[in-house]
Amino acid sequence: MGAPRVLLLGAPGAGKGTQSRRLVEEFGVEHVTTGDALRANKDMETEYGTPREFMEAGDLVPDPVVNEIVEAALSEADGFVLDGYPRNESQVEYLDGITDLDAVLYLAVAESELIARLTGRRVCEDCGANYHVEFNPPEEPGVCDECGGDLYQRDDDTEAVARDRIETYRESTEPVIEYFREKGTLVEIDGEQTPDEVWTDVHEAVAERADP
Ligand code: ADP
Ligand code: ADP
Ligand code: ZN
Repeated sequence: MGAPRVLLLGAPGAGKGTQSRRLVEEFGVEHVTTGDALRANKDMETEYGTPREFMEAGDLVPDPVVNEIVEAALSEADGFVLDGYPRNESQVEYLDGITDLDAVLYLAVAESELIARLTGRRVCEDCGANYHVEFNPPEEPGVCDECGGDLYQRDDDTEAVARDRIETYRESTEPVIEYFREKGTLVEIDGEQTPDEVWTDVHEAVAERADP
């Protein structure tokens, strides 16, 4: 089977990172995530300033910076799961010009649930695995089940910045979801189920749409 090209959409905290890791394992695709790429280059000087200034305010990093990251990553990937991009209409247009997608999935989660997910999130500093202090705790607090690495809390997972990110999502990224809905390619998945149940739906949607 040719490796599928999957776009995973959803609000901050919807479960994109969690499900992306499973797609990587199951389908052998590349995880292309602008959030991780930007966190690794927070202090990179660009003509617009550093990514950090935008990220700490919960704003979008300027399009030319993220478009370049995505184009480079996709040109090297066979199949991929794209997570965290596109986040506005101009990024959708850019993406349209550089690749075709096999599946566009949207993890639907109510806004009231997102803040609790974001403020309780913990991330492994070595392998990037995601946990939640309450909903998906590691066996030993602060330690990654998968690799033993230390878990940390992202600077932007405070309640105040989480609210700003959700506001940015509502203004800039919801139109992206609507774009794919109107186009007729959006597969909506109930993201409020348990991670295993969400995965059952994600797996089925991708397997159905991947090239045989
Ligand atoms: P989450 O997974 O919680 O939605 P991300 O890791 O995807 O968060 O993104 C963290 C921050 O990185 C965003 O708040 C934004 O500042 C920046 N960022 C990530 N992806 C993009 C993008 N496609 N366009 C602009 N900024 C982005
Ligand atoms: P995103 O990449 O969309 O921002 P994450 O995958 O990082 O989202 O998930 C955000 C937080 O919610 C993490 O702490 C994660 O462990 C937790 N989480 C993910 N999926 C679920 C789920 N189905 N139910 C409850 N909590 C979840
Ligand atoms: Zn780890």
